[in-house]
Amino acid sequence: MKTIVVSGGAGFIGSHLIESLLSKGHCVLCLDNMFTGSKKNIEPFRNHPNFEFIRHDVVVPILLEADEIYHLACPASPVHYQNNPIKTLKTSVIGTLNLLGLAKRIKARFLLASTSEVYGDPEVHPQTESYHGNVNPVGPRACYDEGKRAAETLTVGYRDYNNTNVGIARIFNTYGPRMLPNDGRVVSNFICQALQGEDLTIYGDGSQTRSFCFISDMVNGLTKLMESGQPGPINLGNPHEVTIKELAETILKLIRTDKSKIVYKDLPQDDPTRRRPDISLAKKSLNWGPKIPLEDGLKATIAYFEEELGIKNG
Ligand code: NAD
Ligand code: UDP
Repeated sequence: MKTIVVSGGAGFIGSHLIESLLSKGHCVLCLDNMFTGSKKNIEPFRNHPNFEFIRHDVVVPILLEADEIYHLACPASPVHYQNNPIKTLKTSVIGTLNLLGLAKRIKARFLLASTSEVYGDPEVHPQTESYHGNVNPVGPRACYDEGKRAAETLTVGYRDYNNTNVGIARIFNTYGPRMLPNDGRVVSNFICQALQGEDLTIYGDGSQTRSFCFISDMVNGLTKLMESGQPGPINLGNPHEVTIKELAETILKLIRTDKSKIVYKDLPQDDPTRRRPDISLAKKSLNWGPKIPLEDGLKATIAYFEEELGIKNG
């Protein structure tokens, strides 16, 4: 049994990760400032004897004893991370610095939740870990993309200069239950719109692509990376690539609604045109690959939002 810190543990991915770690018998210390986290996400295990919640902003240093640190604290949806770009950068850079300092001090293994956004609007497709990316440093996504790029640089700095045991996961679009209904990300937006009989808002012409990974596969990948001792960076995601228009049509088909139609809105600046992970490295070094097909994952996510919004789809 280990003691494991999960920063950002009251968020979407963090809360599923904690549930999995508790089920394996570990003790979990969840650090979260509740910016995009919710009490409801941690409700299922709030009274678990091995769970402790600490309301804490990672921009401030903290002293704890632990064997492992999963560092997930950072808003992930463009709507939230663009809300205060300076705070997002501080969270990524100073927050990561603080938790790396903690890992060094207590000799814990540290896992950074990085992102496919380090590839920006990629000119290489699918994206391999060796691709250095195409990021606009002064665009609206920069606070997140450059923040995560700097967080990766800090992480390899601690590895090489301080001998800290680190791993970097480059997470691609992940979805599932416990996303916030007002999160602004495409899967939650489309499902909530369709369930409420509203039109589905495609930004641009819908030809841009993403590759969506179901949450249980992602949690499995993150824990395998932690346990492997591999440094990374390693792509974690589902290589099944779809256009945003195909995603909208699939969700409309699964919800079986004729109240909603597709409407088109302006494409935000610097919105990546395509994204698909090359997961050869994760397959080889972690023996990991995603198992949940898109339609199955969407059905589980739709069921969650039906409950959340108090809507039963006929
Ligand atoms: P989320 O917004 O649901 O969760 C982030 C959590 O971090 C929230 O609980 C929030 O309150 C907390 N947080 C934010 N700033 C904080 C701070 N300064 N101090 C303490 N806590 C803070 O997002 P998520 O989808 O669960 O993403 C988790 C991590 O995975 C993030 O680091 C994100 O960048 C990364 N990631 C996610 C995706 C995805 O598709 N979900 C893709 C790539 C990378
Ligand atoms: N998107 C969309 N309608 C929405 C929300 C998002 O068409 O209501 C598009 C968005 O422009 C992007 C894709 O869906 O091309 C994925 O957006 P999301 O914010 O989920 O993730 P990211 O762009 O960070 O991959």
